[in-house]
Amino acid sequence: MISKPKTLKDNSPKVYIKTFGCQMNKLDTELSVGSLSKKGYSFADNENDADVILLNTCSVRDKAEHKVYSQLGSLRDQKGKNPKLILGVLGCMAQNEGDKIFKRMPHVDLVCGTRMFSKLPELLEEISGSNKRILAIDEDGEVNFDRIVTQRQNRYNAFVSIMRGCDNYCSYCIVPYVRGREFSRAVTDIADEVKKLADDGCKEVTLLGQNVNSYGKGLAGKVTLATLLRTLDPIKGIERIHFLTSHPKDMNKEILEAIGELSGVCEYLHMPAQSGSDKILKKMRRQYTSAHYRELIEMAKSIVPGIKVASDFIVGFPGETEEDFEDTVGLLKEIRCQNSFIFKYSPRTGTSAIELVDDVIEETKKSRNHTLLELQKKISSEENRKVHGKSVEVLVEGESKTSAVRLIGRTRQNQIVAFDQPEGINQADVSSSMPGSLVSIKITDSTDLTLFGDYEGILPLRK
Ligand code: SF4
Repeated sequence: MISKPKTLKDNSPKVYIKTFGCQMNKLDTELSVGSLSKKGYSFADNENDADVILLNTCSVRDKAEHKVYSQLGSLRDQKGKNPKLILGVLGCMAQNEGDKIFKRMPHVDLVCGTRMFSKLPELLEEISGSNKRILAIDEDGEVNFDRIVTQRQNRYNAFVSIMRGCDNYCSYCIVPYVRGREFSRAVTDIADEVKKLADDGCKEVTLLGQNVNSYGKGLAGKVTLATLLRTLDPIKGIERIHFLTSHPKDMNKEILEAIGELSGVCEYLHMPAQSGSDKILKKMRRQYTSAHYRELIEMAKSIVPGIKVASDFIVGFPGETEEDFEDTVGLLKEIRCQNSFIFKYSPRTGTSAIELVDDVIEETKKSRNHTLLELQKKISSEENRKVHGKSVEVLVEGESKTSAVRLIGRTRQNQIVAFDQPEGINQADVSSSMPGSLVSIKITDSTDLTLFGDYEGILPLRK
């Protein structure tokens, strides 16, 4: 039975959680929704109807934190009009800024760090009806993996956390400081969660971690990402398994062979290169060379036919010359990523790269960013054109946001596919029966971001 906290018994408060940042944060929000629901909280659709407003924050750039401060500033009036409103800051920025948030924003009641999510219901209970302000940023706090499988945003796909934290300390990155040391979750816990998700109709899981390739470190026995994939692949109902993010220094043949052999594991790698220049990679403390990255891509293509790679790049890192940037352009031309996330370097307080002189001027950063984006766009368009005339397997996600008669889904390589609803089936039936199905789509057209095609029929489920 769900028990309500004593102070909330007669007045079930409504919580509104706004999430900033990455998939990991979205998953943390989902886990928090689960733990708060267990304690009897309900959820508001917007901040105006809420008794508790929680901002689950990102710290990856200074700009991300400024955005949260500005949002907190705009909530000052609401709190002034309703002093009972509880206002909390959760996650990475809470961990990073700590009580600076209280000093800058006196109307904030709770600052709850990345390792204290599991205590959220108790913390809110303590604040409710009192004038307490609580700072909860214990670095040794328990990591919350507990979820209510029925409470998730998408019915047919779900993120599953397999590890937390990061031990890599790339020089530009704040994550190890705000998410703590790397910690792998037990295989049995992960498998149990995936089985429960499958029983609830989930067809696709994405295993999440900052560096999933080093999964298993610290667990008893020989546990690796490859052995985890082999444990999860046979779970009935799960048609597709993805994982992200991969780190080139920990990627290996064993993982690639698992992708190649296991029918449920998708032929897609998100493996950030960050730069094509060895000098810059060294300054970034990435612990691999561009030659090693190229070798991994070659190995991936030979072991897993049809594999697609996505990457991240940072342009304008301190000391990046035109020649270094050309090395990055050369790498992207050679590996031909399906898509890339391209960022201009900006110094981040709290990282070791803050010590380096940020000597690439903004105009140059912008121009390199533009060059790389344009190159990626060209490669994506060319690669997508190669699929014209071919039939691809698509997991249908639902209606397209732009057209009520169009459906969207993704290929096993994470490409977005849009197609018109099959003729002869009425719209209500399509909306209820197609999402979650595997269908065959013959690709007829494309842009750099989307494949378009014709529906050919439903495909049998793998298991
Ligand atoms: S691997 Fe590097 S970039 Fe990724 S989270 Fe860890 S420190 Fe940050």
